[in-house]
Amino acid sequence: MSFSRLAACACLLLATTTYAAEEAGPGRDPAQPVDEGYTRKIREYTTEPFFLSPLVDYLPASPDVPTPQAVLGDVAGAPGKLPYAADVYRYMRLLESRSPRVKVRTIGRTEEGREMIAVAVASEPLLAAMDDNRVRLGKLADPRTIAMDDAEADRLVAASFPVYYLTGTIHSPETGAPTALMELAYRLAVDESPYVRYIRDHVVTLITPVVEVDGRDRQVDVYNWHLAHPKDNWPPLVYWGHYVAHDNNRDAMGLTLNLTRNVLGEYLFQKPQVLHDLHESVPFLYDNTVGDGPYNAWLDPILTNEWQMMGWNNVSEMTRLGMPGVFTHGDFDTWSPGYLMFIAASHNGISRLYETFGNAGADTVVRRLSPDEYARTWYRQNPPLPRVSWSQRNNNNYEQTGLLVSLHYFAQNAPAFLRNFYLKSKRSIEKPRLEGPAAYVFSADEPRPGAQAELLRVLQRQGCEITRATAAFDVPMPVRKPKDKDTDEAAAGADKASAEKPKTETRHFPAGSYVLRMDQPYSRIADMLLDYQYWSPDDPQKHPYDDTGWTFGELFGVQVARVADPAVLAVAAERVSGEVKAPSGVEGSGPVLAVNHNADIGLVALRYRFKDAAFEAAEEPFEAGGTKFARGSFLIRGVSAAEAGRVASELGLKLQALAAAPAVKTHPLRAPRVALLHSWLSTQDEGWWRMALDRLKLPYDYISVQTVAATPALRTRWDVIVFPPVGRTAAAIVAGMPRWGNPLPWKTTPLTPNIGRIDSTDDMRPGLGAAGVQSLRDFVAGGGLLIGVMDTAELAVSYGLTQGVALGRAEKLKAPGTIVRARVVDAASPIVYGYADSFSVYTADGPIFNLSNLAGGRGRRRPPEETERPTGRGTADEPDLPQGRPFAEPPKEPEAEAWEALPLTEEQRRNPIYVIPPAQRPRTVLRYGDAKELLVSGLLEGADDIAKHPAVVDVPVEKGHVVLFSNNPIWRGETLGSYFLVFNAILNFDQLGAGRTLDAE
Ligand SMILES: [Zn+2]
Repeated sequence: MSFSRLAACACLLLATTTYAAEEAGPGRDPAQPVDEGYTRKIREYTTEPFFLSPLVDYLPASPDVPTPQAVLGDVAGAPGKLPYAADVYRYMRLLESRSPRVKVRTIGRTEEGREMIAVAVASEPLLAAMDDNRVRLGKLADPRTIAMDDAEADRLVAASFPVYYLTGTIHSPETGAPTALMELAYRLAVDESPYVRYIRDHVVTLITPVVEVDGRDRQVDVYNWHLAHPKDNWPPLVYWGHYVAHDNNRDAMGLTLNLTRNVLGEYLFQKPQVLHDLHESVPFLYDNTVGDGPYNAWLDPILTNEWQMMGWNNVSEMTRLGMPGVFTHGDFDTWSPGYLMFIAASHNGISRLYETFGNAGADTVVRRLSPDEYARTWYRQNPPLPRVSWSQRNNNNYEQTGLLVSLHYFAQNAPAFLRNFYLKSKRSIEKPRLEGPAAYVFSADEPRPGAQAELLRVLQRQGCEITRATAAFDVPMPVRKPKDKDTDEAAAGADKASAEKPKTETRHFPAGSYVLRMDQPYSRIADMLLDYQYWSPDDPQKHPYDDTGWTFGELFGVQVARVADPAVLAVAAERVSGEVKAPSGVEGSGPVLAVNHNADIGLVALRYRFKDAAFEAAEEPFEAGGTKFARGSFLIRGVSAAEAGRVASELGLKLQALAAAPAVKTHPLRAPRVALLHSWLSTQDEGWWRMALDRLKLPYDYISVQTVAATPALRTRWDVIVFPPVGRTAAAIVAGMPRWGNPLPWKTTPLTPNIGRIDSTDDMRPGLGAAGVQSLRDFVAGGGLLIGVMDTAELAVSYGLTQGVALGRAEKLKAPGTIVRARVVDAASPIVYGYADSFSVYTADGPIFNLSNLAGGRGRRRPPEETERPTGRGTADEPDLPQGRPFAEPPKEPEAEAWEALPLTEEQRRNPIYVIPPAQRPRTVLRYGDAKELLVSGLLEGADDIAKHPAVVDVPVEKGHVVLFSNNPIWRGETLGSYFLVFNAILNFDQLGAGRTLDAE
């Protein structure tokens, strides 16, 4: 069998290379001169001798090749030196021009137009053979090209050399990697020690020294400001990338950011075996390659074993070199595939990540660690020191030593890792007959073709091949079991024999349905994104590192069929060439255009594209021209057929031209003036909203809480203010940062040319303040719409911008990034136009809303024990009877569902100062599902806390509205299915009362 052959083959290789490794221990070649000045500086800037290793305690001299000093004016990791990306690139290109062992290429641009590069470093023969080698790696990556022939794979492995891809400083305040990678590139190109030569001769090291280039340049600005104002507090880095901050490392599923697409593009082009991302947080080097459980459930076990091999080798080698505080087991679980390095894990490579210790800048400072950081544990026998003077040079020593050790180990075992690369790719192709499924199918009768096309395009970007059925076909699908347990047991009792058999039903798919076959090399990422996730509440891991559920079909609001039967692979289909596009165009003729509302996001773009045309929304479903239109569908006048056709095909929408408008009640559908509101505390989460609006070309003004505080007449400038989640408490958003200390400017200046361009302020500290709260209150009272989400919804509630909504307290709720079921409560509300009765939403421990018909009411229900009968005569369900008078029947206690307000009592209506008039009462539009059905994907504990409570509430306030979201409808480019809840609110901002049935009193 191939496994025993592999084992024999690997042992042989290890035997020969181990001998070579012993010969070539780490340490300089005495015959090669050392750059004395540079070496002296390395030792000067390193704060303890044991923060050095024999791999980095010297710098070899070269007569031709300049050291990083040529660009930095000092050594890598020197105090006070933080190079801009352009300086890093200048050095890499200098290396390229002076060394035949270095090649630089552009891999793309950032959102703000900055370049991203990849630097290849290897011996001359390897670099010269890179193109041929890439062809061989391509065959190993797609074993279909060699007919899955193991013998041919062995020949390719023997002829090939691997590529190890390093990526630096994706997280902008984690500043050390660029200088470490500059010096590493120099060492790999110049060092003649046998250890480094061995790496250079056996593996191509590929380096992207700066991943988040926009953020790097802003971080350097802030650091330079700090150097120029040494006695002042410096402004926190509120913007990293153009859109998001820390979440730029959570984009490997949705692939929305340029940096992710560029690194993925380079990965798919070069076919590296490893993607190793450099971060900074915990001391001194956490190689979280091993991390902790639960591991992502869709990975080949070959990979998880490779993690163990490489992670523990790293710890063992660095411990041998005498460096304290190196470990590989720790907090990080690898459940979510959203991390940049996971591009490799989900595409048959090896993902790795370092956390080294950083100072967020290049100052040398004393750092005091917390007891859990310096404790000796079973996996960290040589822990970090409790209190250290720490320098950027220390950080660079750890990064470079770890990387050299890893590269050497990888070079030693190159054939075994290449063979694994082939095997993982081969087993991905064999998926249909191994673990399955056989395919995922996307039906041609999908109600949301726009979202379907978007989902398929994400999968295409991931490298997946899509085919399209040329004829209709049927497949057996498992029958979904009823949720109710009693029904299950009854069925089992009635027909035990049939209950034991897996039940299937036939599902019909029309011609034109898309089939994503699992017999392709990148089947694993498709399975990862499209399958469901289950995280047990009893899992020993109590702190999920990130979202626990992400099922893309649910979040995109698209039907996805997971087909196990391999017969689906025989369906007549052709490969889709080019991007998947939704069917589009204009049918029929006439002056009125009708567009079915299906919540496809292109619809909002359509409204703004024809900003000045007359749009109306139908308040009821209708039929016209032989087509059925859902409630909320658009009726458009004043747009020419040609113009409409052009835009329809651009946006992937189908329009129907009608001779006359249908007889249906309508209201105007505006293209309102929108402001997107942010705080200066954090822009991380609003960035996903900003990106969504930008991509759809929905125009908006981007304003801060300080603008709101300083603008009393907001209503004259805007119709809608969208306030996405901030990730802070309501009180913090109002308070801002403390006012002691110096002002914190976020402005473009000659010293800080890269900041202050997205938004700017003289002082980041002031928050929304009482004046801002009052401005928002006036804005709503004057007819504006304020949209609050999670913490900003809590702000609206707790600062009295709404009435009749209260915040409940979670007792046991745990939904750390979970997909849950939501149910439409009021289908006539414009906010749910285009939606079915039930669909999935993303929540992250969202607020619990309770409604009341009384201003200031808590909306609490009486606990069940209080409604039980008291001690007395009769049986448990009979009333007690007072003796000596006829029985007086007590009135029924008011009852309501968890998403409703309790009906008013006569007592409350006596002097109704606090009774909210019916037209001003909160209207629950969408609620969370019942506890039993609530969990769709991920981890959910304590479902009862939030089950049935409102998810989206429309609160009329005088002439305007506040719409509150407990779920987060716009998140990481993954929740396209819920975007239109927001867009509907915007487009119907002055018509939100449509279809509302008011309480009688
Ligand atoms: Zn990081």
